Amino acid sequence: MSHVHVNGVANGSAVSQTNGNVHRAPLDASRLRLNLTDTRKTVPPPEELVFGKTYTDHMLVVYHDPVTGWSDPEIKPYGPLCIDPASSVFQYGTSCFEGMKAYLGPDGKARLFRPEQNMARLKRSAERLALPAFEEGEVLKLIKKLVTLEARWIPALKGHSLYIRPTIIGTRPSIGVHASDHSILFVIMSPTGPYFRTGAKAVSLLAINDSVRSWPGGTGGNKVATNYSPTFKPQEHAEKLGYQQVLWLLGEKITEVGAMNFFVVVQREDGDLDLITPSLDGTILPGITRQSVLALAAAHPSRSVLPGLPETVRLHAHERELTMTDLKAWSAEGRLLEAFGTGTAAIIAGIGRIGFEGKDTVLPEHESSLGPVAKALFERVTDIQEGRVEWENWGIVCE
Ligand SMILES: *Cc1c(COP(=O)(O)O)cnc(C)c1O
Repeated sequence: MSHVHVNGVANGSAVSQTNGNVHRAPLDASRLRLNLTDTRKTVPPPEELVFGKTYTDHMLVVYHDPVTGWSDPEIKPYGPLCIDPASSVFQYGTSCFEGMKAYLGPDGKARLFRPEQNMARLKRSAERLALPAFEEGEVLKLIKKLVTLEARWIPALKGHSLYIRPTIIGTRPSIGVHASDHSILFVIMSPTGPYFRTGAKAVSLLAINDSVRSWPGGTGGNKVATNYSPTFKPQEHAEKLGYQQVLWLLGEKITEVGAMNFFVVVQREDGDLDLITPSLDGTILPGITRQSVLALAAAHPSRSVLPGLPETVRLHAHERELTMTDLKAWSAEGRLLEAFGTGTAAIIAGIGRIGFEGKDTVLPEHESSLGPVAKALFERVTDIQEGRVEWENWGIVCE
């Protein structure tokens, strides 16, 4: 690919136009074009929602071209994209995404949960894949606009929400092994019910280290598409052996569970509890639910008492290395009280047993699938997300 010289300086992206001005348009929400459908779909009843099956009437699309920059953003009827078969995304997997949700508050307004964190992470993921840069604040403005337009799709039931999937793909139409200077940023949305319907049991995990999800210097800390496709086969293997999800190890070290961050609650000798999750060493996806759970645990009980937890018990939050040997030792001593996964889809998923090297480590059983700490955190996080509790500007109203 030839480089264009601007004022004698090699520059692979900025290009002189015929009038002599160098101009690549930034991503600009104020240039939004609305192309609304006149045949709106029927919104399915909340109890019939299946995750990721139904999409709303509209989607947001913005194109990046290396000469002209970002196109006018467009909200248009949901439908297929037209993409050159030589596109980078098909050949080299240049794709990254976010997972976020809009919730309907008691005031009837749509809310996002810490969306600036999703935007910052999307920007980092795109940078990691050398995809074109963008102004993340502009994307958030466009998402708010899309959510407001599609507000009738947010199910008005506790535990229900509108799942939002911002995605960026590389569309450079050349099979040369090279960064993609063309891209499409799009946002689609799907109404969803609770990840676990009532009566759900704690999940069983198969801990494996013959396949790994992430490694030092790799992309595990970014939400890039190529982290996920290689997990499907090990996931099928776990299911064949009677486990629901994979616990990803790196040697002995625990990293994540499925596509969720991993937590344990351990009894301390002083009567308090340790809440432990692996530290962000580049192999762990920096989950927004993870960070929120750590912050809420640290605020108990001094700043805010978590629902159902005694004020006398402190939760000592730690980000540190966690191994299967640690887990087995705590379990043998009767100190391993809870294990759970965190992420936007399930919020908090209780873990019931972990198979490793032919033996199961079994967690104490609880009436619901969650132990008292997981349950308290689940209640508090969802109260904030669904607008019943205000906490540190985490809930952002769309209007
Ligand atoms: C998205 C994701 C998470 C959870 O992140 P949240 O911001 O809490 O939704 C955890 N692990 C992996 C691998 C993920 O892709």
